[in-house]
Amino acid sequence: MYQASFILYIYQLSAYTKIKGGFKMVIIFKPSASKQEILKVKTYVESLGNITAQPIEGQSTTILGLVGDTASIDAEAINLYDCVDRIMKVAEAYKKANRKFHPDNTVIDVRGRKIGGNEIAIIAGPCSVESQEQIDEVAGKVCAYGAGLLRGGAYKPRTSPYAFQGMGPQGLELLYAAGKKYDMPVVSEIMHPNHLDIFLEKVDIIQVGARNMQNFELLKELGRIQKPILLKRGFAATIEELLMSAEYILAEGNPNVILCERGIRTFEPSTRNSLDLSSIPIIKRNSHLPVIVDPSHATGLWWMVEPMSKAAIAAGADGLIIEVHNNPQMAKCDGQQSITPASFEELLKKLCVIAQVEGREIKNWAAPTGTPQ
Ligand code: PEP
Ligand code: MN
Repeated sequence: MYQASFILYIYQLSAYTKIKGGFKMVIIFKPSASKQEILKVKTYVESLGNITAQPIEGQSTTILGLVGDTASIDAEAINLYDCVDRIMKVAEAYKKANRKFHPDNTVIDVRGRKIGGNEIAIIAGPCSVESQEQIDEVAGKVCAYGAGLLRGGAYKPRTSPYAFQGMGPQGLELLYAAGKKYDMPVVSEIMHPNHLDIFLEKVDIIQVGARNMQNFELLKELGRIQKPILLKRGFAATIEELLMSAEYILAEGNPNVILCERGIRTFEPSTRNSLDLSSIPIIKRNSHLPVIVDPSHATGLWWMVEPMSKAAIAAGADGLIIEVHNNPQMAKCDGQQSITPASFEELLKKLCVIAQVEGREIKNWAAPTGTPQ
């Protein structure tokens, strides 16, 4: 407990001194340490190489926060200074995303839909916006069946340059109009920082796809806005790498990050990816950020969406993002993993029961007050 509150204290000091990445190491002085003694240690540490030692004066103790190449530091040598109480490594690579520094869950409010709290958020809609009729029909149905948010891609990351690339700005307009018509916040994937203006205008949650999880310049741009970001796990990314990518956004000042487990690539060919359900409790343990699951891209198979959605909620997910298409056979993208609106309706009924067992709720946004089903 003392350790946790001490780390929190150091973190707050680190934030206070505007060192974006946080300290890698801290030297804690005895209350009796004089200014000259502290300066001597600071000069010594900085002489070791590319290290900056930032003094932070607390009420009774002074701390030196170290950033830079701290690998060259020999803790034993520093402990030889009489004025030093102890030296500590700040081991966590991710700071702002870390639950140690932020014990309470982050709850993101997207026009009344709360993601990360007791509610389980249901985002549904087609892989891509294809036409006004299509997005309108799907939006109307998923809304009627209780989904809280609408998804729809306008810029599609396709493996083949000859495959449908999405409708671009026109797609975003259609998604926006459908969202407005059914009073649903909308989610869509951004591919390039140049598109940011239109996303800021038309979209409620900006999605970063698996392929861009480590597009650090894009992440930094998204860190400079306040709109919620749905950050999907890269298909070859570890959980820590996902959290480090979230850290890029948080470090720039945007605290509204939702993580998404969407399966990783393994040697198993039966499914498009392997859904790493174990990432949910791990992320919930190590981070305060909400985590949702995409059973559609995780499996690539419409008939696996139901069992994986159920499992995700049972494992503690804060929400689901599900591909729903009015005519999956004719879909321009990902028809094989899209469920029909009718299946979505049935699925949602079952998910409500599982949510209840978990002490959580799936609000029915079709009901005027958003009351539980
Ligand atoms: C998508 O959500 O449409 C998508 C392309 O997902 P991912 O980035 O997870 O592949
Ligand atoms: Mn898709």
